[in-house]
Amino acid sequence: MIRLDGVSKRYPGGNEALAGVTLHIRRGEMAFITGHSGAGKSTFLRLIPLLERPSHGAVIIGGVNLARLSRRRIPHLRRGIGMIFQDHRLLNDRTVFDNVALPLVIAGLPHRELGRRVRAALDKVGLLRKERAYPVTLSGGEQQRVGIARAVVSRPPVLLADEPTGNLDPALSEEIMRLFEQFNAVGVTIVIASHDHALIERMGHRRITLEGGRLLDDGDRR
Ligand code: ADP
Ligand code: ADP
Repeated sequence: MIRLDGVSKRYPGGNEALAGVTLHIRRGEMAFITGHSGAGKSTFLRLIPLLERPSHGAVIIGGVNLARLSRRRIPHLRRGIGMIFQDHRLLNDRTVFDNVALPLVIAGLPHRELGRRVRAALDKVGLLRKERAYPVTLSGGEQQRVGIARAVVSRPPVLLADEPTGNLDPALSEEIMRLFEQFNAVGVTIVIASHDHALIERMGHRRITLEGGRLLDDGDRR
């Protein structure tokens, strides 16, 4: 599903954020990427929806080498990938409903489909009764769940989360991770960057470790 082959990434004027990374995340897997700040976790995630391109090596998603993906196919690639951020990036002047509906509006989904799909996604994250609320009136954990609903509303086969529990206490963090497990249980491939070692240990999924841009352990025990 997600394959990196000898991938290095050097930002303009910077040093190497990733260096010679080769690994494979299978369809339906749930994996954590760990490593200190600056280890290359975000860069790794950003390569997958083509928010960045590698300096060397190949990124292959669902059998497609992204270097050969034409520009007009990029929106299609991105529609298949749900992204979740630490700061959730919700629009504060829009309701929960409108935030979650946004990817569907952009994709041009017919209006009558919107309500059904948005409510199904809010139901999955347990926030159906908050659809008219504004993000600032919600707790941190609820805001993150809205971010997750927005990421899954178009039913992407891949979810990527960058420090999704960075601002949450341990109990809420675990709740968010269990939510990811539920999506994984229905076949979604999930990659989560996190440096919360205690939580990752408790969850017991594959753990990919980066250090200074290098792959220290690909965590593949199969
Ligand atoms: P992590 O997510 O593990 O903290 P990042 O992938 O964000 O690591 O960063 C890896 C390295 O790349 C760091 O040294 C960081 O400063 C550098 N870096 C990340 N993004 C950029 C950028 N847009 N321009 C220049 N350097 C960057
Ligand atoms: P419906 O078929 O009415 O949309 P589902 O219960 O199948 O209802 O899905 C409800 C919501 O849960 C979806 O809109 C989507 O947000 C999320 N979801 C369900 N299955 C998946 C999946 N395989 N991948 C991603 N998201 C999913």
